[in-house]
Amino acid sequence: MPRLAPGDRLLVATHNVGKLAEFQALLEPRGIRVIGAGELGLPAPAETGTTFLENARLKALAAARASGLPALADDSGLEVRGLDGAPGLATADWAGPERDFARAMRRVREELVARFGSIERADRRAAFVAALCLAWPDGAVECAEGRVEGEVVPEPRGTGGFGYDPLFRPEGESRTFGEMLAREKEALSHRARAMAVLLARCFPPIRPETAGEG
Ligand code: IMP
Repeated sequence: MPRLAPGDRLLVATHNVGKLAEFQALLEPRGIRVIGAGELGLPAPAETGTTFLENARLKALAAARASGLPALADDSGLEVRGLDGAPGLATADWAGPERDFARAMRRVREELVARFGSIERADRRAAFVAALCLAWPDGAVECAEGRVEGEVVPEPRGTGGFGYDPLFRPEGESRTFGEMLAREKEALSHRARAMAVLLARCFPPIRPETAGEG
């Protein structure tokens, strides 16, 4: 299986600066030189897949082929049981073109109330799902998925994180992701779980001289 080595360059196929920073923090202690898609002016391909995995795979392959570098891409979203898995692939779209997540979280609540009559009666069980794919210019691809189960809370709580974090309480916790510190969320998150699989499979270990940094 292809594996990166210290000193290798890796394109992270995202235009989201928050995600890029998260990946840099994970990969630079392993000696990987991370480059953002914005730096190379790469366009984002249409997300035409029917699963998170398909979308992550097509984004990673498009970026690897266009740049000639190994490329990492992710696709993620929120699945609510009482909404038959919605918003799912449309998770970002529910925030509208202006990416208004207060509006997106309101829509989750409104759709649950419309279906169940009240938020108390609604099936609020939910999961955050992330797919990550690492592709090479020759077409080799390694993928992993991560999931965190939990529930949608009746009202958003907390100001931390991003997106739907204030609406989601992971199983076994009393706080929402929006009420947690970044490192507390990272110990549980869907993206971190998927990344742990790829780190073990495709990346060099943390270099001892940088362990404990960042
Ligand atoms: P994408 O993976 O960039 O397509 O993001 C899909 C959508 O899911 C975005 O609207 C994000 O805000 C949302 N999302 C994905 N992961 C998280 C998370 O960890 N917390 C909150 N929202 C998330």
